[in-house]
Amino acid sequence: MFELEAWYLIVLPVLFAAGWWLRGFDSRVRAADRGGAPRSVFRGLNLLLNEQPDKAIDAFIDVVKLDPETIELHYALGNLFRRRGEVDRAVRIHTHLLNRADLPARERSNALAELGQDFLKGGLLDRAEDAFVRLLEDPQHRFSALRALLRIYQMEREWMKAIDCARRLEREAGESHQVAVAQFYCELAEQALAKADLERAQSHLDEALVADRKSVRATLLAGDVALRRGQLDDAIRHWLRVEAASPEHLPLVAARLTEAMDKAGRREEALNLLRRALLDWPSIDLLEVAYQRVGEWEGSGAAEVLLRDELKRHPSLLGFEKLLALRSAQVKGDPELDLLRTLIHAQTRKLARYRCSKCGFRAREFHWQCPGCTSWDSYPPRRVEELDAA
Ligand SMILES: [Zn+2]
Repeated sequence: MFELEAWYLIVLPVLFAAGWWLRGFDSRVRAADRGGAPRSVFRGLNLLLNEQPDKAIDAFIDVVKLDPETIELHYALGNLFRRRGEVDRAVRIHTHLLNRADLPARERSNALAELGQDFLKGGLLDRAEDAFVRLLEDPQHRFSALRALLRIYQMEREWMKAIDCARRLEREAGESHQVAVAQFYCELAEQALAKADLERAQSHLDEALVADRKSVRATLLAGDVALRRGQLDDAIRHWLRVEAASPEHLPLVAARLTEAMDKAGRREEALNLLRRALLDWPSIDLLEVAYQRVGEWEGSGAAEVLLRDELKRHPSLLGFEKLLALRSAQVKGDPELDLLRTLIHAQTRKLARYRCSKCGFRAREFHWQCPGCTSWDSYPPRRVEELDAA
């Protein structure tokens, strides 16, 4: 990777210099008349080759003072430094461009947009936000500025502002951000729930469902709000809707759903639901809930039967580990059994992760937004072992 970047760093100024040379005799004479332009270019090139990027930047800044047509060179170098993670140097180049009094307005906007990207890359979110807010008035940059701001507000967890940006992009650029907007409202609803503001949480969830009627997370949270209000039947109704809308997400609500059903005197119905769902939508997480509930309600013998039946239908190391744990509790002090458990556990630790379908980032917990690539709804509610088997 580094070698490729270094290669670019050398080739880019060479191409530029060649371009300058090929622009023709006249312009060469003009540049020579003004004096120094070619010398600065080659001095900058030399400094770059000698790994003195800061002095090289000085030399190239000299060039642009003398020859405004070298603005492209600044963008190319600035982008290169930013991509290499040398944000300070990129900022220096783009700030120099921005501060030039003779720069045409359009070029000034371009420089500001580049500077915003530098700040974003460097994690200077406030300064990036400032740059992109200033660009909103420029029709040429408005959409890209809105997209950058949408990213920034998500990083800052400023959900209302993020919703505003997404809505504007939908209205003006015809983009669709409904899934994300529903997630932003769900984030707001969770914040309200954490403050026990059930009224506000509910209104955010209503908005989430307007944006995305099928939002599993909003339906799930609506059940949580109902439960906090003591409306057990409503909570159950919401959570049952999760299965109706997206059966593969049932494992996410199965534990709270069956607990609520039991409290409402619907234990038999809950057990039937778990057994039926395991047949229709087999999943390791669902098996875990079913195994626990059957154990609590019908005894460990029934739980073991359920586990064995499920393993016959859908063999999995994660399920087998559970069976080993059960055996280990029955037969104490068997060194071979303990060794087997240790070996299996080394494997299942990796298999028990969730994995982002966009970037492959693995996580112990289920996420609505990927911590790796920040995509929304990119985690299937399935463990790696199941995803690989499928
Ligand atoms: Zn991802």
